Amino acid sequence: MLKELPKLPYVYDALEPYIDAQTMEIHYTKHHQTYLNKLLDALSKYPDYLDMDLEKLLTVLDTLPKEIYTAVKNTAGGVYNHNFFWEIMASANTTEPHGELLKEINKSFGGIDEFKKNFSNHALGRFGSGWAWLVINSDGKLEVTSTANQDTPISEGKKPIITLDVWEHAYYLKYQNKRDEYIKNWWNLVNWNKAEELYNNKV
Ligand code: MN
Repeated sequence: MLKELPKLPYVYDALEPYIDAQTMEIHYTKHHQTYLNKLLDALSKYPDYLDMDLEKLLTVLDTLPKEIYTAVKNTAGGVYNHNFFWEIMASANTTEPHGELLKEINKSFGGIDEFKKNFSNHALGRFGSGWAWLVINSDGKLEVTSTANQDTPISEGKKPIITLDVWEHAYYLKYQNKRDEYIKNWWNLVNWNKAEELYNNKV
């Protein structure tokens, strides 16, 4: 298990104006860090699980001892989902959808705009807290989905390509209740180079 969070791939204000520096700093140093602290705490008496890779742990949640199941599910998901979220963003408008991934998006969703609309609807429609995802499902097909709380698609054998955090802590300081505006603006931050790389390494 990782003992420290991976370093953010950019500085706190790198995603301005769409994600403000203060939100970014609190999100990473408080929310994300707390998930890791609580995860390590929950696993401290269970060396077999503590020695596991984070991703492996998220595929064997059903084997966890009852007394740590909920804590580990939520915090391991919280660590993994945020690690992934930081990686899939870049400074505003630095990349465009391209390559094999774009071809497959066009084929699966009927175009990039249709795909964005579908994904945005999942992000907006997730009641309460959670995440929207583009994943490769177990049939090897692209799929748009959403998860509640800190649940993660890798627990269902799916491979994430992009994700969006729609917990209020991700946007409230700048957008207050306007989740739709946050989602619309977030499209400027997607790191399509990284998404394409993940898609090409899918096997
Ligand atoms: Mn978050």
